[in-house]
Amino acid sequence: MKTWTTNNKIRITRVLSGRSNSFVVNDNTLSILVDTGPEFMRNTLLRNLRVLDIKNIHYLILTHSHFDHAANADIIRDLFGAKVLIHKSEANYLRKGENVMIKGTKKFSGFLVSKFGKRLLETLKFDPCPADIEFETDGKLFIPETKIKIIHTPGHTEGSISVIIDDEVALTGDAMIGVSKNHIMPPFGNDINKIINSWGKLLETDCKWFLPSHGSANARELVGKEYVRYRNLQEM
Ligand SMILES: [Zn+2]
Ligand SMILES: [Zn+2]
Repeated sequence: MKTWTTNNKIRITRVLSGRSNSFVVNDNTLSILVDTGPEFMRNTLLRNLRVLDIKNIHYLILTHSHFDHAANADIIRDLFGAKVLIHKSEANYLRKGENVMIKGTKKFSGFLVSKFGKRLLETLKFDPCPADIEFETDGKLFIPETKIKIIHTPGHTEGSISVIIDDEVALTGDAMIGVSKNHIMPPFGNDINKIINSWGKLLETDCKWFLPSHGSANARELVGKEYVRYRNLQEM
């Protein structure tokens, strides 16, 4: 499992990779899981958490309510006693095991969504899970003694959030993707302008690495380049 360690010795371990990423953040005795992957990755997730000898998960942070991020939330809450945190505007979806509707950000993905999106997302319902903490304040320190902060990064969905660790590493959910050397725009999202503004917000941190839920880590340089490129397109 790939790991990152910040200057203040906070360790980030990628416990799921491939179809969807999921990360465990360890700060001294505190364990936080960010996203849980889709249901078919459940056994891998549980096995990898066992390999890491994780017995308690204090918080499960869900970047948003989509099946490929939240489908294993309820079981993690049950097995590890995790308090589940999600943005206020998506708590009701999670409680019902439903996906927030999205549009396409590109021609082809837009076509796919308009043709199959609604029905597909309805068939991809997942185990409902109550939220213990509904996040709404922007820029608030998550736990006072930690250097882990949650910020609101809407656009993919209205309630999308990112986790900023030690001002060095950001876990961005679907606010960007990491599947190409030159592009970070997710194929699906409700509001391109909000996505771009969220990149701006992420760049206001000092993070060097931006770890999306799909694909590999994006360096700050690429995120900066994409931000400028899309800002210029917006102004045209
Ligand atoms: Zn999503
Ligand atoms: Zn996703």
